[in-house]
Order: sequence, then structure tokens, then C-alpha cells
Amino acid sequence: QSQEFSQVRIDYHGALLALQEHGTRMVCTGKMHTDRICRFDYLCYCTEAEEFVFFHSNDSVMLPNLGPRRFQPALLDLSSVEDHNTQYFNFLELPAAALKFMPKPVFVPDVTLILNRFNPDNLMHIFHDDLLPIYYTMQQYSDLDDEARLVFMEGWGEGAHFDLYRLLSSKQPLLKMQLKTFGKLMCFTKSYVGLSKMTTWYQYGFVQPQGPKANILISGNEIRQFASFLMERLNITREEGDDYIVVFKRTTNRLILNEAELLLALAQEFQMRTVTVSLEEQSFDSIIQIISGASMLVSMHGAQMITSMFLPRGAAVVELYPYAVNPEQYTPYKTLASLPGMDLQYVAWRNTMEKNTVTYPDRPWDQGGIVHLDKEEQERILASKDVPRHLCCRNPEWLFRIYQDTVVDIASFLDVLREVLKKPNLKKVKVASTVHPGRVREPKCQTSVQATNEAKLSVSWQIPWNLKYLKVKEVKYEVWIQEQGENTYMPYILPHQNYTFSENIKPFTTYLVWVRCIFNKNLLGPFADVLICKT
Ligand code: UDP
Repeated sequence: QSQEFSQVRIDYHGALLALQEHGTRMVCTGKMHTDRICRFDYLCYCTEAEEFVFFHSNDSVMLPNLGPRRFQPALLDLSSVEDHNTQYFNFLELPAAALKFMPKPVFVPDVTLILNRFNPDNLMHIFHDDLLPIYYTMQQYSDLDDEARLVFMEGWGEGAHFDLYRLLSSKQPLLKMQLKTFGKLMCFTKSYVGLSKMTTWYQYGFVQPQGPKANILISGNEIRQFASFLMERLNITREEGDDYIVVFKRTTNRLILNEAELLLALAQEFQMRTVTVSLEEQSFDSIIQIISGASMLVSMHGAQMITSMFLPRGAAVVELYPYAVNPEQYTPYKTLASLPGMDLQYVAWRNTMEKNTVTYPDRPWDQGGIVHLDKEEQERILASKDVPRHLCCRNPEWLFRIYQDTVVDIASFLDVLREVLKKPNLKKVKVASTVHPGRVREPKCQTSVQATNEAKLSVSWQIPWNLKYLKVKEVKYEVWIQEQGENTYMPYILPHQNYTFSENIKPFTTYLVWVRCIFNKNLLGPFADVLICKT
């Protein structure tokens, strides 16, 4: 493998000289360690010490130059999971003069992205924490192109789906454990360290119970673009043939115990063919191929449901929850399906019948066993009908409940499906526009006093500039009127570009008036500058 960085490709002596003379240079984005990505020239890694090294010379640059705050708690997060104390990045410092006494460095000529994968054995984590963030970090920096080298520093082996990581660039990704084979001191000619967190939508419950991130910055558009990129790399084309339903089953735990009955019920209810898939029985590629043409995906809650991002627009996602697990509290896939522009319908079904659950108290703790707990605690868990809110990751009651097998009660299952799913919508949705209105232009107000207790306020404005280039189904305007000094305002939705208000308008009073445009009920434009209107 070491021939891969054949020293023919770079001028070794030139590189060594540059490192000795200029040392390491770092410039970063981000004010905090949690939103920082750093770009380095000549960042080195000592494989014996397992430490990154910054070589100081007169030409070195270190921006931000945090001094000891670099360790409070770290320079940056190496994974996309926010502020996790096992995922911090830092480097040691040495004077460049020390290079004379150190092993000859091996230079990595490729532009490199250095990061931690968070949990490469779990499909949800692979997509949400690694693949999407890597893909969009690479989009952010144009020299992280198809020739870029990925280096995974979390220290794990390849994991179950390493082929997916291979799709992101034409170069073989490197694992931490492989770095040793290149030599004692590796120097990355050009590298980026850290991952964008812009694409993540879920927090796993390390500091507060799990749930959607507070400020989601990704839409279905970016998810679907990424999904299309992967499908292209996998040579998969979406087949738009007949309608069918996919049941994604698990085969080792969290089973659906009456699968045949469920399949039959689905086929009858929707008059569609049904297919089952599992990660144990099909290749990942063939599963994506199948899901990409499906009208509905039905599955027990679990990481395999991340594949719902490959469903066609309009398809339905049906997530099944075992007994005593509240669907509202575990929503990574609901949040994904509900992102604007994902255009998926989402339904959760929950087993509420204790007789339909099969528990495994004798299993090891990490598969939900509880026999290691004291008797009282075991009895409390067994009697509980709802897992209380909890933090990640070792809550025994949660693990006990989430690893149950379930007999799906067909009647209640079909009830929620009928209630929530709009049948004609299946697979055939029109893509809604996401173009927002500009500000309304030339807002004006005119006032008149009719009597001592009667006044009028007329407000008018011009359409937003971008509207004349758009076909918009419904254009409305929102006007807020606030009496100066008051805390409340009156909102009005209006169909035209002017309106005369007379109700609740007092003479000899100052009103503040805001106007904005709304496309198709929910695409809000910005407010124009406030109007100050005196009656
Ligand atoms: N998995 C699977 N079949 C099973 C059990 C698990 O394919 O019977 C996969 C699952 O999709 C995930 C990984 O194995 O990618 C780890 O599963 P785990 O139950 O630990 O995580 P969860 O699915 O609850 O996120």
C-alpha cells in the first residue's frame, strides 16, 4: 500500500524542505469547537504516539490561535456528533527544528479529509453521522473532489458497510490502524479536519433525551440529491413500474412475529404486491433498488429505516414500535420523512397489547436483558406500560422494550394507516415550489380622521420583484398593525395590494405597520421596512 503515495508524485525533498522551513499552517472556520473545520498545510501524524503534530516555524500560522483554550475542551469535533467527549481533535506542538531528530516523514500527496466515523456498524449512524456530512463537507471545499483521500481516525475496523464510504471518492479510505504501515511520521500535504454538522437532523440523547435537533438546516432536497449521488455511484436507476409495498424486516431481533399475516393484510388493503427485504438476505444495493421504486416502506423502528431516504416522493413510511415504546420520543425517521421537500407520508403504529409482545429478560444487557438488575427494578420494568424519558445509551428499560418481538395487531394497524394515509397521494405528488417571495415594494400608508372617534388607515404596496417571473398559485399579503407603545398587534391576511382599515383605528394615534407577501399559504417573504402612520 505504501507505494500508493509513490514519492514520484511529489518532490520529496521539496516537501521536506517546505515542512522544515514553513512548518504547519492552519486556518479554520467556526467560532466554537462545535462548528469548526480546519484546513492544514503539512499537518503531521505520529503513528507511534498516535498524536497529530503541528510543527512551529517562523512561517507557521495557527488561526484561531486559542492558546490553552485549545484544550477547553478541544480544537474541534472530529465527528458530526456535537461536543461528544470521545470525538475531540487536538494536536501536539513541536518546533520544526525537531524534525532533524525524528523519523523521515512520509508525505501524503492527496488532499485529505480527516474525521471520525461515529458508529460504522449501524446504518442510521453511517448515513446520518458520516456519509451525508462527508458528502456535504466535500461540497463545501472544492479541492475535496473525487480524488480526495478520506482518513477515519475513530480507530474502528472497516465496519459492515465500508463499501458505502468507498463511493465518496475514487481513493481507498484509510483507517487509523493502517496509518502505521506507512511509517512513523506521516505528513498530510493538504488536509481538512472535521465535518460539517449542517446536514444532521437528530441528536441521540447524550445530554437531553433524544429528539430532532433544535435548528434543522437541511431539507429534503439536499437529502435527495445525496441519495441520487449514491444511486448513481451504485449504478441503480429508479424503476417506475407497478406499485408495491416493501416490508423491511430484521431477522435477529425486534422481529415481526406475524409477518405473513401482515403482508397479506397490506396486499389486500392497498391492492399491491408486497416484498420483504432484510440486510441479512439481500445485498444493500439490491435493497436500495427495491426501495427506490416502492410506494410504501413498512418496518420495525431501527437503523434499517434510514433507507427511506431512497423512497420516491409521495411514498409512505410506516414505522412499527414495540410495546411500551412511545413513538413520539424516538423520531429519527419521522423527522427525516417530514423534512420539507422529502415529500414522504409518515405513519407510526405502536403495539399497545401486552399479550402481543415477546420479551427477552435473559439476554445480555446490550440486547435488552434485565436479569442482571435487582428484583425490584426488574418488576418495576415489567409492570411499566411506557418507557420514561431517558438519556442515551444504556437505559435497561429502554433496551428491554426496544428489543422485544411483536405480533402486529392487524385491525389497529390498518386503522392508523387508513386514518393517516391519503391513498391517491401514493407515489404521485407534484413537487411543491420552494421559492420564497421577496419584500413587497413601495409600501405606503395614508390616513384620515372622520370624526372624533373615527379614523381610516389605508395601506398599499407593490408586488415583490421576483413575482413577475413566477407562476404562483396563490399570492396573499399579511399586514400587521400595532398601536405604538402597545405590545400586541393585529394580523390580517389580504388578497390585494391595498386595503383600508377603519375598525379599531383611532384618531390622533400612531400605528406601526408591517407588510409581507405569502406564496401558497406557507412560503413567507420578509417584512418590508416598518411604516409609521399617524392618524
Ligand atoms: N440489524 C439488522 N437486522 C437485525 C438487527 C439489526 O439488519 O435483525 C442492523 C440494523 O439495521 C443496524 C445494525 O444492525 O444497522 C445495528 O442494530 P441495532 O439494533 O444495534 O441498532 P438500531 O437498529 O436499534 O439502531
